[in-house]
Amino acid sequence: MTTLHEPDTLDASLGATGPLADARTQLREATTLLGYDEGLYQMLATPRREVTVSIPLRRDDGTTELFVGHRVQHNFSRGPAKGGLRYSPDVTLDEVRALAMWMTWKCALLDVPYGGAKGGVTIDPRNYSQAELERVTRRYTSEISPLIGPERDIPAPDIGTDEKTMAWLMDTYSVQQGHTVLGVTTGKPISLGGSRGRATATSRGVVHVAIAALLSRGIDPADATASVQGFGKVGRYAARFLADAGTRVLAVSDQYGAVHSAAGLDVPALETHVDATGSVVGFAGGDAVPAEAVLEAEVDLLVPAAVEGVLRADNASRVRAQVIVEGANGPTTPEADRILQEAGRLVVPDILANAGGVIVSYFEWVQANQAYWWSENEVEDRLAERMLAAWDSVNTAATRLDVPLRTAATCLAVERVAQAHQLRGLYP
Ligand code: NAD
Repeated sequence: MTTLHEPDTLDASLGATGPLADARTQLREATTLLGYDEGLYQMLATPRREVTVSIPLRRDDGTTELFVGHRVQHNFSRGPAKGGLRYSPDVTLDEVRALAMWMTWKCALLDVPYGGAKGGVTIDPRNYSQAELERVTRRYTSEISPLIGPERDIPAPDIGTDEKTMAWLMDTYSVQQGHTVLGVTTGKPISLGGSRGRATATSRGVVHVAIAALLSRGIDPADATASVQGFGKVGRYAARFLADAGTRVLAVSDQYGAVHSAAGLDVPALETHVDATGSVVGFAGGDAVPAEAVLEAEVDLLVPAAVEGVLRADNASRVRAQVIVEGANGPTTPEADRILQEAGRLVVPDILANAGGVIVSYFEWVQANQAYWWSENEVEDRLAERMLAAWDSVNTAATRLDVPLRTAATCLAVERVAQAHQLRGLYP
């Protein structure tokens, strides 16, 4: 069963709150600086297509539960839509809209030939068995299958989903088509057409940019200290690669708690602890601290790599890191951005900092569509090249325009999408 929704109010000031209001505020600033008219702003502020679906689940004990899922395709002026699939109890349609919009800017900024999309199911995956999650994924995929495909919209993992989810999604879509369609998702297992380097790509990209940002502030990464919020697919490997670069990771957190060590955490030992227990809590190599201590730690670098809206007007002034690199999407609200800017902090925005994932997703899609796979070194080298080129272009634009990195990045991205839109023209 599918239901089409009307887009909600277009302006942040007219009622929308949370990530969607933040995304529209950022877009409004960019379209104003670029001198675009209201019509173009409205077109870019509104998803091209969105669908809400019901997902009935037969539980292992025979009872039935109902979930709601969304897929939002924000824009496809530059190519098929692309974006993650999130399983979280906090998923809302507005959140998915915001995440889809940020994907459009990210793909344009990194010059990968996609528009932006996002999907979500309002479910806490920790409360369900693997068999139940498989049924949820297959039903959700069936419901959205008319909208997805290698030339239409290509999902990938996000919060609460992983390579297994992508394998089920790919299989369900393929069964419906009558043949195997590897290019319908990215972030698949390597044995099923996944790309080498995809699982760690977002974190690699975060650390490439974090090192460049620290150096731009005259801080040697090998002498630096860091804290990381979130220890999932992004935060965990970000902590590992920072430690590999010689940076001391003093604090990390997950949704259950936080640990801190003034001498620096032993990240491989922490990973072993998390694999065994499911959380950073109870790690013997550090002290338990309140969750907010990670955001406010006395460090050079802060990597928020969990959820949206964690740096806000009420806590931004307590951030002591000189450099903030957004592993998560939307962790900093526009008010926090202003406070951090005034305090002289350098915020490397999500659409640049965490783009490593979509870059290697693009590589995976290219490899799957050609049925020809690259070596890990090829993937890593091309990822580094694209991340550092994007860092240079955003940094140069920010200096030239005398604006924060986020404003520069959003302007560069919005300009590319608007150009594609204008060259294609309006149909009819
Ligand atoms: P994940 O589900 O693998 O991990 C999320 C982590 O955040 C977990 O450790 C969880 O315990 C923790 N967490 C949740 N709420 C928290 C809170 N309030 N405080 C502290 N920790 C909390 O998800 P992920 O894929 O690592 O995604 C994290 C962020 O990175 C999201 O914003 C996602 O959109 C973004 N992102 C992910 C990718 C990717 O390739 N996976 C790419 C780009 C951006």
